[in-house]
Amino acid sequence: MAKQLRLEVAQLTDVGRKREHNEDNMAYVIPKDAQVMATKGALFIVADGMGGHAAGEVASEIAVDTVSNAYYMDDNEDVVTPLLQAIKRANAAIHQRAAENMLRSGMGTTCVASVLRGNMAYIANVGDSRAYLVRAGQVKQISQDHSWVAEQVRAGLLSEEQARTHAQRNVITRCLGTQPDVEVDVFREPLVEGDCLVLCTDGLSGLISDDELRAIVAQSVPQESVYHLVERANENGGPDNITAIVVRVQEVGVEPVSARDPVRVGARELSEEETAALPAGAPMPYIAGSNTDGRVISAPLRLSSGPLSPSESVTAPQPALARRRSRLFFPTLLLLFLLIVAIAGGGVFYFLHLNEAQSIDRSLGSVESLIGQAKNEAAANPSQALKDLSSAQNSLRDLQKNHTLDDTQTSKLNQLQSQLVAQVKTAISNYNAHAQIVQLPCQATSSNLINMLSINTVPQSIASVGYGKGIALFSLGGDGGLYQLTTQNGLVNLLPASSNILAMNTNGAQLLLLTKQARNGSTTPPTYSVVVYPLDQNGKLATPLSATIDPTQLKGLVPSLVTAWGNNTYVVLSDANQNNARILDYVSDGKRLTALKPYDFSISAPISSVAAFADQIFLLSNGAVQSFPVAGAFSGAPQPQLPSPVLVQSPINLPLAANPNDFSSSMVVPTATPVEQTGNSPLTVAGANLLSVGVVNKVTHLYIGDSQNHRLLDLNVGQTASATPTATSQNATAGKSVMMQLVQQYVSSQSLPVVKSIAVDPQGTNINVLTQSGANVALLHIATGVSCTNA
Ligand code: CA
Repeated sequence: MAKQLRLEVAQLTDVGRKREHNEDNMAYVIPKDAQVMATKGALFIVADGMGGHAAGEVASEIAVDTVSNAYYMDDNEDVVTPLLQAIKRANAAIHQRAAENMLRSGMGTTCVASVLRGNMAYIANVGDSRAYLVRAGQVKQISQDHSWVAEQVRAGLLSEEQARTHAQRNVITRCLGTQPDVEVDVFREPLVEGDCLVLCTDGLSGLISDDELRAIVAQSVPQESVYHLVERANENGGPDNITAIVVRVQEVGVEPVSARDPVRVGARELSEEETAALPAGAPMPYIAGSNTDGRVISAPLRLSSGPLSPSESVTAPQPALARRRSRLFFPTLLLLFLLIVAIAGGGVFYFLHLNEAQSIDRSLGSVESLIGQAKNEAAANPSQALKDLSSAQNSLRDLQKNHTLDDTQTSKLNQLQSQLVAQVKTAISNYNAHAQIVQLPCQATSSNLINMLSINTVPQSIASVGYGKGIALFSLGGDGGLYQLTTQNGLVNLLPASSNILAMNTNGAQLLLLTKQARNGSTTPPTYSVVVYPLDQNGKLATPLSATIDPTQLKGLVPSLVTAWGNNTYVVLSDANQNNARILDYVSDGKRLTALKPYDFSISAPISSVAAFADQIFLLSNGAVQSFPVAGAFSGAPQPQLPSPVLVQSPINLPLAANPNDFSSSMVVPTATPVEQTGNSPLTVAGANLLSVGVVNKVTHLYIGDSQNHRLLDLNVGQTASATPTATSQNATAGKSVMMQLVQQYVSSQSLPVVKSIAVDPQGTNINVLTQSGANVALLHIATGVSCTNA
């Protein structure tokens, strides 16, 4: 008996990380009937839709459905003509649907379809979805993109590498649905055992290199390959929908006799030159499309064949030739075609349906194994478990949305759905434990709205100052005035708006203000002052010490931030270009403030927040936490020219988009890119906007407010009870780097909408956080002595 083409296939589509909808579609048909398989082969198709108002999804769905139905309904035993007709039919169907509905005008889709029959692969392509062949550890892109950048590459105006990142890389020059007719490119490739054909959308091909694709496909079975391909594209950002079909040739068949001896309707005669351009033994090419007056509309037929070694590969585009035929020929053919459709239709639908049921069972099986895999991974690698669960969820959603399930399948799906929810909850809990995340509110927290009815400004920052046995909470208003927070969460004005307070801070026992005094006459520059208020026995402001900043210290620099440790008050200045910074150091002896020698250094981005430890000032600059040594920390050594990055033992994981307790089947499984455990890393918190220092149980903590991720990070210098950070590594221009470790991440989009200010009580019993959500400003208290559990 003749050898049969045997194939192993898997397909996967994923919405990606950034899009809300999946506009990609895919399908395959492997006929069960050996006769159909031998004459028509197996069909694979991927389409990437575009157009607003869900039109992209519609266009790609029409393409996939029309091509797979029309191809098998055409009993022409040639492959190329029915495949081209099917694609052209899809083009017409989309174009018509777009014309019927204003909202869908302009919708379109790419389409890459492949028929594998006997020992041959036929690939038809419109747009920038791709077909690759992986053979013997090498990869070759078979299709040619109809995109602007691909044209530039072919013209030698852009390199492949430039094209990958070019701003216009998404512009395609040809697609289905936007014009009444379309040119389709066809390629042909002889198959050998072990070949893998990959069809994919640009959401995959644009995100992974050909080499990565080759490595993944060559190493695993199709079922695993599609999963790893999608995973890799997501790891690289997943900006677009991702779709892949991987087909492995287990055994090649033979081409049907009719194909080897082509005497068919629609074939065109080849001139001698054309024949010479074809590889020996290759079937004749076909006219890509004709209309009733017999003129050829289409397009190059590219025959690609032979081994992957460049010397033998042939991909010469064939010129399309004009041809004339009887005017009655095509109408007759159409009638014949419709008759055959009527007879064959029922049978074709029957085997399509059988195939559908099998493919649903297969999908349910792979979801089950993904959930099982996630269960095994949940303890050691919760990030990976969540990725697997996310893939499982996508498959389940695809089954619910795009397929009709029987009762058994539906009950299996429901069972898998509830297993999925339970596993996601476990994985989120493990992820949070691993990343030191606690969700707020919890037992340790309370929150109060601030009553702003009696004032005309919004509190900007807070400071917690100790006196006798009490604590006073002060607030800097957006008007530049000073306020005190009452026990009823109201605000009492202490200093008028005309005080022009630029910044406020505390050393725990005194309130520090940086003020600005405009002087008469617009040409006179303003002066700045540092004011230090002690509190009396009742917590009221007592007589302050103050110092006017020496104008010669300014030199184009503007004071903007103030911080303190012990008797040292530091004012941070920077220039308009944000290149240079200076720290002024004022020491208090209880009677007056004395300016010490300033610290000068260069910066690369604006300093947005500062906090002082005993011998370091921490600076927040564009998400990077840096430190600069002060108070004799570099005595003897030259003063550094740059701040040093603060180091952490491992990078800090981002919070997930869902809580374990709240997760339900209607929510999207949260995923996070696992951070590489690379040892000491610079402490960078992309969304950070605030730094603050507090001493809890005699250990100095650094707090970082991250409004973007709705979290408060708590770090300290490690296990030692020392209030001084331990310093490691040193280089010439920067000082020693401070090593810190993460203690806790407090996370909540509700409790921490925007983090405006952090003030730890002098005794270290409470972390007070000023937050804002719309017009509501609230004060959140986190008790440090109570463990934060969500019970
Ligand atoms: Ca796309």
